[in-house]
Amino acid sequence: MKKILVTGGAGFIGSNLCKRLLDEGNEVICLDNYFTGDKKNIIDLIGNPYFELIRHDVSFPYYVEVDEIYNLACPASPIHYQHDPISTVKTSVSGAINMLGLAKRINARILQASTSEVYGDPNVHPQKEDYWGNVNPVGPRSCYDEGKRCAETLFMDYHVQNKVDIKIIRIFNTYGPNMQPDDGRVVSNFIIQALKGKDITIHGDGKQTRSFQYIDDLIEGMIRMMKSENFSGPVNIGNPNEFTILELAEKIIELTETKSVIKFLPPQIDDPKQRCPDISLANEKLNGWKPKVQLDEGLKKTISYFEKRI
Ligand code: NAD
Ligand code: UDP
Ligand code: UDP
Repeated sequence: MKKILVTGGAGFIGSNLCKRLLDEGNEVICLDNYFTGDKKNIIDLIGNPYFELIRHDVSFPYYVEVDEIYNLACPASPIHYQHDPISTVKTSVSGAINMLGLAKRINARILQASTSEVYGDPNVHPQKEDYWGNVNPVGPRSCYDEGKRCAETLFMDYHVQNKVDIKIIRIFNTYGPNMQPDDGRVVSNFIIQALKGKDITIHGDGKQTRSFQYIDDLIEGMIRMMKSENFSGPVNIGNPNEFTILELAEKIIELTETKSVIKFLPPQIDDPKQRCPDISLANEKLNGWKPKVQLDEGLKKTISYFEKRI
């Protein structure tokens, strides 16, 4: 049994990760300031004697003794990370410094939830880990993209300079149960709009692409990365099946059998035009890891989650 700290543990990915780690017989400390997370996501875990919930902001120091740290604390949806951009940078950068200082002091292995956003609006397609990205340092998305890029730098520097045992994963758009209904990201927005019979809001012409990964595939990849030896990453974890946002809207309309219609809104500033992971490195280094759940199956599970939730 390991003692594991999950920062951002009450969020979408964190809550799914906490559950899996407990199911595997570990002791889990879930740290969250509830900015975008919700106790409802972990309500079933409260009462488990091996689960502990801590209200704390990672941009302030935190002292604990654990074997492993998953650093997930950070708002991930554009509407939330742009609400208070300075706080978003502090969460990514000061949060990384504090969690790395903690990992260094207690000799714990630490995994950083980085993002495909480090590639910005990519002019290499699909994106491989050795692509350095195309990121605007002063736009509305910069607090998130540059904060995450700086966190990767800190992770690598603590590894090289202080021999901290680090792991960096670059997560591509992920969806599934425990996303908040008001999360604001495209999959949850479209499903909620469809279930409520409201207009499906597409920003721009809908020709921009994303590659959508179901949560269970991500959790499997994260755990394999944490267990891997002699490999720090960064490594892409995503589903390489790419869809336009218009195709996603049409699929959700079909699966929910809604009467909702598509409404086109002005495009968002600096919205990446395409995004698709090259996952050959993950496949090679993480025992043949590849996503198993494709979009139709994952959307059906997510739709049934939101039907119960709203
Ligand atoms: P989420 O918003 O559901 O979860 C983030 C959690 O972090 C929330 O519970 C929030 O309350 C908490 N948090 C935010 N700021 C904090 C702070 N200062 N101190 C403590 N807790 C704080 O988002 P998610 O989708 O679960 O994302 C989790 C992580 O994965 C994030 O780091 C995100 O950048 C990364 N990621 C997610 C995706 C995706 O598609 N879901 C893609 C790339 C990267
Ligand atoms: N830190 C923490 N928990 C710990 C150890 C350190 O939050 O258990 C914080 C500490 O407050 C510091 C940061 O991590 O601000 C970086 O620690 P490090 O030892 O690398 O740097 P230093 O303390 O020398 O600034
Ligand atoms: N998007 C959209 N309608 C929405 C929410 C998002 O058309 O209600 C688009 C958004 O402009 C972007 C894509 O869907 O092109 C993915 O957006 P999301 O916020 O989910 O993630 P990210 O842009 O960070 O990949």
